Amino acid sequence: MAVNSTLLNTMRVAKETVVAIEYTLKDDQGNIIDASGERGPMEYLHGAQNIIPGLEQGVEGLVAGDTKNVLVPPQLGYGEYSEKLLQLVPLTAFGANTPQVGMRFHAETNLGMRVLTIKKIDGEEVTLDGNHELAGKTLHFDIKVVSVRAAEPTELAHGHPHQSGGCCGGGGCGSGESSEGGCCSTEEGSEGGCCSTEEPAAQKQGGCGSGGCGCS
Ligand SMILES: [Zn+2]
Repeated sequence: MAVNSTLLNTMRVAKETVVAIEYTLKDDQGNIIDASGERGPMEYLHGAQNIIPGLEQGVEGLVAGDTKNVLVPPQLGYGEYSEKLLQLVPLTAFGANTPQVGMRFHAETNLGMRVLTIKKIDGEEVTLDGNHELAGKTLHFDIKVVSVRAAEPTELAHGHPHQSGGCCGGGGCGSGESSEGGCCSTEEGSEGGCCSTEEPAAQKQGGCGSGGCGCS
């Protein structure tokens, strides 16, 4: 057993490992944008695009206990800010709902399902922004690797880590506003049923993503 635990402790982050990290994410000004904090470490399947590419590259090769500052430019994070992702819709498109600047929602666009933010309301015209809220930003991650283990075959098949209790057990859903009642809220779905909801736009933030739960 001693040999085993030694092996586990020295396993390096590589493709097909499940990695747990604690992190604090800051912008260029040093403002904290997000942190694992009380949510506990974020677990993800390395090499499966669970997290943004720049962070994944930064964690590669580390072992449990390692700490690192990882600088992620926009092109390896949430992309450059694009004016093309702005669109105007009439106020009437919201029906009975009252839109407010800063409100976010999922909508089908010609680029697929995206999270849209209400950027401006000008009379009867509403400007929607399809850029990720972190688009165009350089991201500063302070990370600590908490654990590294080999992925289980079912995790590799699903493309995401499973916690104790099966697919998407407690604790993994981080920052999503929509985590309640959304993905993986059902009890019985360990195989097949769970995690069938696609959340492509949301997948990459912290493995669980804004609005998703890392289970697409
Ligand atoms: Zn799963």
